[in-house]
Amino acid sequence: MGPKDHSEGFYYDIDIGRPVTPEDLNKIERQMRRIVKGNRPFERSEVSKEEAYKLFAELGQRYKKEILDWIPDDIVSVYRNDGFVDLCRGPHVEKSGQIKAFKLLGVSGSYWRADKDREMLQRISGIAFNSQEELDTYLHRIEEAKKRDHRKLGPQLDLFTVSDPLIGPGLVTWLPKGARVRVAMEDYWRDMHFKHGYEMLFSPHIAKSELWKTSGHWDFYRESMFSPMKIDEQEYVLKPMNCPFHILTYKHGLRSYRELPIRYAELGTVYRYELAGVMHGLMRVRGFTQDDAHIFCRWDQIDDELDRVIGFVLTVLRKFGFSKFEVSLSTMPEKYVGEPADWKKSEASLKRAIERHELPFEIDEGGGAFYGPKIDIKLRDSLDRLWQCSTIQLDFNNPERFDMNFINTEGEQERPVMIHRALLGSLERFMGILIEEYAGAFPFWLAPEQVRVLAIADRHLDYAKELEKSLKEAGFRAHTPMASDKLGAKIRDAQMAKVPLMLVIGDKELEDRGATVRTRTREDLGFMSEEQLINYCKSC
Ligand code: ZN
Repeated sequence: MGPKDHSEGFYYDIDIGRPVTPEDLNKIERQMRRIVKGNRPFERSEVSKEEAYKLFAELGQRYKKEILDWIPDDIVSVYRNDGFVDLCRGPHVEKSGQIKAFKLLGVSGSYWRADKDREMLQRISGIAFNSQEELDTYLHRIEEAKKRDHRKLGPQLDLFTVSDPLIGPGLVTWLPKGARVRVAMEDYWRDMHFKHGYEMLFSPHIAKSELWKTSGHWDFYRESMFSPMKIDEQEYVLKPMNCPFHILTYKHGLRSYRELPIRYAELGTVYRYELAGVMHGLMRVRGFTQDDAHIFCRWDQIDDELDRVIGFVLTVLRKFGFSKFEVSLSTMPEKYVGEPADWKKSEASLKRAIERHELPFEIDEGGGAFYGPKIDIKLRDSLDRLWQCSTIQLDFNNPERFDMNFINTEGEQERPVMIHRALLGSLERFMGILIEEYAGAFPFWLAPEQVRVLAIADRHLDYAKELEKSLKEAGFRAHTPMASDKLGAKIRDAQMAKVPLMLVIGDKELEDRGATVRTRTREDLGFMSEEQLINYCKSC
């Protein structure tokens, strides 16, 4: 029992022989307010363990006896406030009046000593802040996060299903509307990669176990891989990563220093075993599509490549509407491969690249993987939550394992450096983040349905369909509902589906060949001709 990290609030475990009800929580909160108002001091005293055993035995606190049993010290501290006494290491505020704003958030079951064979206690958790304002902001965020939960909005907006009982846990199906968003994401992603000098690859979903033995995944990543399958007496495994395929693509030809850097990108679907209990909507799944890339370059190109990659990451994340980033740089761990000098050199390159882009960063000393240093870029969403999305990882191991080479200026064989890199991380997870960021109201360029054409009466339907057709031909995702509902109902439906633009067609619009435009934020943009409409959509 006791406080957690401040950012997560506090909790207290109790056993009252029955479940704690919401009414109990209200009573406890009222009592807490009385205590705060009383502004009584928290008094610390140090007592011998002997005395403590006696004190808590008298109070009938049998769990305290066990806590005392694990404390190795002879002297323990006890705090008193307004007649209540508890065993506590401290520290505490001096007086209860210093507590400015708090709220109990709920009750959950919690095994004593986290042992499922022991008593189930009731864990009451809460949060405290220095001001009511901060508390209100926090509570608002929790409420808002609940409303935006992608697990609720996704199926509600027909975007995806996950863990269908006939398909299996942690496996995602993109529904047509979700697939439209994904196609918009992928189109942008591919276009940007071609512009930034990447080639696209497509690799198989399974490969022989030998490949994973060569790459080292078989030894170091086995618990995340699904069991092998037999095909023609050969053992195959579902791919947990795309890297080995990109390496083999590099090795497909003899490489010269002039060709480097070589940049391969793939929207590669990988499969990783996750325990059934940890799966969470789109955030943690067993199959997902990495927006993966591998860069093979010379040592003298590393600075430039890292600089480009970070710039690229930021451009892409900004396009999706994010503007606050935090970076962590993980450096050489105790167990490592390669030369310490190479580690130092590449860590310095990573640091320079982060600084050039003026990103706030922290260093995770010794936190790198054994095969190279890396940086993780987290984005902060509008509810102030941090999401780890992009990773840029240097690799001194795989070029050795796969005996990768290029012919250098001296005509000799030299090892290239390998950079693994993902921008969005996983398309599924990033979709989850986007749904929550926008509460399902995607920006125009991503919206599954960008424009809905609404005919006031059936006689306007033909022209509505005609307008839909011109919009589609201009490259926009438009739709005309054919039901003869009242306009009000049609607008409500479009609003519920979070369609950015609604085009209303009545007699006047039919005659003037255009539509009256409304936005999902209830803005009235007035009449636009067909041509004006298409230009307006292009500017969105
Ligand atoms: Zn990789």
